[in-house]
Amino acid sequence: MPGFEIIDNKEQEAVNQIFEEGGILFAHGFDAMRKSFHVREFEEKSKKAFNAKNALAVSSGTAAIKVALKSIGVLPGDEVITQAFNFIATIEAILDCGAKPIIANVNDSLNMDVKDCETLITKKTKAILPVHMLGVPCDMDSIMELAKKNNLKVLEDNCEAVGAKYDDKYLGLIGDVGAFSFDFGKVITCGEGGLVLTNSSSIDKYAREYHDHGHENNIELPRGRDSRSIYGFNYRMTEMQAAVGKVQLDKLTFIIQENTKRMNALVSNIPSGIKCRLIPKKSSPINDTFIFFIDSENERQKYISTLIELGFGTKNLPDAMEWHCAAFWDHALPENQVARSILTKNLLTKAIAVPIWLRKNVEDYEMLAEKLFKDMK
Ligand SMILES: *Cc1c(COP(=O)(O)O)cnc(C)c1O
Repeated sequence: MPGFEIIDNKEQEAVNQIFEEGGILFAHGFDAMRKSFHVREFEEKSKKAFNAKNALAVSSGTAAIKVALKSIGVLPGDEVITQAFNFIATIEAILDCGAKPIIANVNDSLNMDVKDCETLITKKTKAILPVHMLGVPCDMDSIMELAKKNNLKVLEDNCEAVGAKYDDKYLGLIGDVGAFSFDFGKVITCGEGGLVLTNSSSIDKYAREYHDHGHENNIELPRGRDSRSIYGFNYRMTEMQAAVGKVQLDKLTFIIQENTKRMNALVSNIPSGIKCRLIPKKSSPINDTFIFFIDSENERQKYISTLIELGFGTKNLPDAMEWHCAAFWDHALPENQVARSILTKNLLTKAIAVPIWLRKNVEDYEMLAEKLFKDMK
């Protein structure tokens, strides 16, 4: 379920507090006038929540990916390998760095096919950008091994799996750097917002400066006199986003627990003949989406209609496939990469993604399994 389902007076009070304390909406400075630093608190809270050495709040998930790419040293002409089931934001961030996105297909886990990724490595490859799609981790052991062997950086796009773990570690911290999103459809939200997580102090330093026009935030100096060594851009988070983000972060464990109850109710009532998305070993997904495959298009349409009739709907597959599959991105990618993404498109064309909602209860998901698969029993 997305965090917007449980927005309540706690988020409202958090925003009110800013105005009651004088209405300082900016993350930096105004020290004499303010009582709180919400962005800083959100960063501290995120560090604790995900067991990270460093956390940088930014304006969106897309901004987090861009800042992270810059911080691991992606330069014009470099190649960055990402995957065909994805969101267009990663491609945009790579292009915005002047680098070249290279597209690997996905396998039955609907995440990066690491064997395909290996065939795409060239002398120009700088980084691998795996995307943990719809709540489920990529096969991070294989990705890290491949990266190590070829001396590549790893940026995890964890916008869709905030709170998921692999081998008991939070996603986003297994590679060199991780990007999170808190847009309004994500597992926790502050309207728009993102986070760059890393255990590397040098990556964090660059990210922090780059996201804020190069400001080094030197505590010895007032902000207007601040020292600088690189130029950057403005990808700052506001105090209002951070105030909401803090409250939502407190709800993350609850959301994942509730998701998992509903997911278990659904999965334990699925007939064994149904092919489901492959979940990689060692992974703890956030269970916000259940995906299964139906080969016959006719049959698939029936399942989709049932999901809509029963008020569950579908999530991205099929309804937002064009924004999530590289086979549709001829406006951004060269022809050969669009063409090779057909393999992923063929796989996604058989998939149905069922959203796990908090507004539905556990029994609703038991009933859903009954009704969806009644002809198979
Ligand atoms: C949502 C999302 C993004 C972008 O995040 P925004 O906060 O919307 O900019 C990037 N990658 C993936 C996989 C996403 O789902």
